[in-house]
Amino acid sequence: MVLSDNFKRKIDYLRLSVTDRCNLRCKYCMPGEGIRLAGREELLTYEEILKIVKIFGDLGIRKLRLTGGEPLLRDDILELIIGLSKLKDIEDISITTNGILLEKYLERLYRSGISSINISLDSLDGKSYRQITRGGDVERVIRAINKAVDIGIKRVKVNVVLSSVLKTEDIEGFIRWVMEKPLDIRFIEMMPVMDIDSIECSAGSIMEDGEQPMIGMEQILSIMKKAGPYTKLDEKRGFGPAEYYKIEGSRGNIGFIKNDMDSCFYCNRIRITPMGILRLCLFSDEGLDLKEMLRGEFSENNIKTAIISFIEKKPKDRNSSSSCRPGEKSRIPGFMNKIGG
Ligand code: SAM
Ligand code: SF4
Repeated sequence: MVLSDNFKRKIDYLRLSVTDRCNLRCKYCMPGEGIRLAGREELLTYEEILKIVKIFGDLGIRKLRLTGGEPLLRDDILELIIGLSKLKDIEDISITTNGILLEKYLERLYRSGISSINISLDSLDGKSYRQITRGGDVERVIRAINKAVDIGIKRVKVNVVLSSVLKTEDIEGFIRWVMEKPLDIRFIEMMPVMDIDSIECSAGSIMEDGEQPMIGMEQILSIMKKAGPYTKLDEKRGFGPAEYYKIEGSRGNIGFIKNDMDSCFYCNRIRITPMGILRLCLFSDEGLDLKEMLRGEFSENNIKTAIISFIEKKPKDRNSSSSCRPGEKSRIPGFMNKIGG
């Protein structure tokens, strides 16, 4: 079966946020004081996750990404991955993590058959990393990333959100890394989150007194040029909107994910929050309460029918989503740790 919306976009990619809890407080994602977390009973259980992902597999979902909050904070995360990998329709399971707890999970993640790990790392400098994450230890994350590659995880991708803590030396360091190791480093334009203070997240950057303006894609490309000639890769890598470049002689690639509307036109993804709400667009606050259906008297067929007709209504693009006010730039409603990024 193929799942599609009213704009004939094929929907085959599900991002499942398995917890709203996090051990960091990145400035562009969550407020420093944290947010009201859902009670345990409000989160989807192991059995409910397996059941709902099986339903989505029957409907046409082929690729699944586990995210959060911090997914490795969920006690049953390995059991979940192993259970999900037995679902016959799900061809590809990956995880997005901040990497703080990753090292101790790597061997078991490798054996669980996970196909790729995305690790968020916004700077290579200890002080800047601590600043943007409000307390994270960069060395732990770097160690885990190197180990993930060495252990043989098929695709290791590093997500770097562009912010004002990112310096030229970071870019040079990231470039040296792809010269040496087969990993993808992807620079991501920051997206404005509605409930995060407008100064902290203004125009997508985090500016504090005395900080330099943000480094953008053009600057990164010119720093790359110094490392050697590069080419844009034509082939599609993964299921997302990133475009990739390869520097001659490098083992890995550099990617860019822009915060623009182009990606809306071929958007193939839907999201489920930790509380079991199906969301059709990052920028929309409309949802379908799957948990209510799973815990209620709904048959599997009823749930499927509700999902199919809800997905048909996926907004054409971020500016036509429910939370965008006329004349204003679209912002993400709620907090990213609840939606999963
Ligand atoms: N805690 C995990 C992590 O940080 O990788 C998974 C959840 S996090 C919400 C998923 C991704 O969303 C991360 O790569 C993070 O950098 C990204 N993200 C969060 N807020 C963002 C924002 N305002 N703009 C762009 N990316 C953002
Ligand atoms: Fe936590 Fe990830 Fe959000 Fe950072 S981006 S606060 S690590 S959920």
